[in-house]
Amino acid sequence: MALDGVAGLLLDLDGVFYVGDEAVPGSVEAARDLAARGYAIRFLTNTTMRPRAALLRRLRALGLDVAPEQLLTPAVLAARLMRAGGGGAYRLVAHPDLAADLGPGAVAADDEAADDEAASPRPRWVVLGLHPPFFRHEVLGVAFRDLLAGARLVALHANRMWRTARGMEPGLGMVVRGLEYAAGVEATVVGKPARPFFEEALGTFEDLGRERVIMVGDDVDSDVGGAQGAGLRGVLVRTGKFSEATLAASPVEPDLVVDDLAALARALPARPR
Ligand SMILES: [Mg+2]
Repeated sequence: MALDGVAGLLLDLDGVFYVGDEAVPGSVEAARDLAARGYAIRFLTNTTMRPRAALLRRLRALGLDVAPEQLLTPAVLAARLMRAGGGGAYRLVAHPDLAADLGPGAVAADDEAADDEAASPRPRWVVLGLHPPFFRHEVLGVAFRDLLAGARLVALHANRMWRTARGMEPGLGMVVRGLEYAAGVEATVVGKPARPFFEEALGTFEDLGRERVIMVGDDVDSDVGGAQGAGLRGVLVRTGKFSEATLAASPVEPDLVVDDLAALARALPARPR
C-alpha cells in the first residue's frame, strides 16, 4: 500500500548511492533498472561539498548518466533566493567551487579574507555550506561580523550529521544554529527538509502529481520528514546514516523502511501503474 500508484522517485545521493568513497552495492543498478522500467527519476541532494558538475561526474564514474536538470542541489535555490532579494555580494562560507552554482558575487571566507576584512565592504549575504576546513573561529568570526553588520544568513542545509568512513560526523546544522544563536538572526534553510526544495523537484516531473512521487533517503528527518511535509510519501533506506536509534527517536514515521534502493526496486511493480 505504501507504494500504490508510484510513478516518480526523488532519490537522495549520499548514504543511498555511496558512503564516503564506497559505493552502496546495488544502488546504481537499481536506479538504472527503475528508469528502464518507466519510472521517472530525479536526484535531490543536500550535498554542498562539491558543485553540481562534480556530482554529475561522480555519478557518471559510478555508472549513472544523469542530465544536469535531473539533479537538484540547494545552491540553485540559494542563488534564486539571493537574486529575488536584490542580489549583491555574498560571503561564501562553503567550498569555493560552489560559486559556480551560486553565481557572481562570491566573497572569500578564508584566512586572507580575514586579513582584508577591515578594508573590504561587508557582503549582503552569508552563505553556509558543509566545508569542514571552514569550521574554525577565524572564518566563522568573519561571517559572524557580516551578520552583525546586517547580512542575511542563507544555509544550504542544516543537517545534524552525516556518515563518513570514520563513522558519524557532526553536520552543518551545528554551525547554522551556532551562528543564529550568536548573532541573534534566523537563517533561511534552502535544502531538505525545506518545502520549496521539494516543490522545485516536483515541478520537474511532467504530469505527475505529488501523490505519485516518493522520496527515498537515509535521513529520517530531512528526507522522509521533509517529503511528508510537502505532501509526498517518504521511504527510508537502512544504508548511510540510518540507525534504529535515530529512527526510534524521530517524530517522523516513514511510509516504508527498506534495506536499500535495490530492495525498493524489487518491491515496486514491474511498470508504474
Ligand atoms: Mg543522505
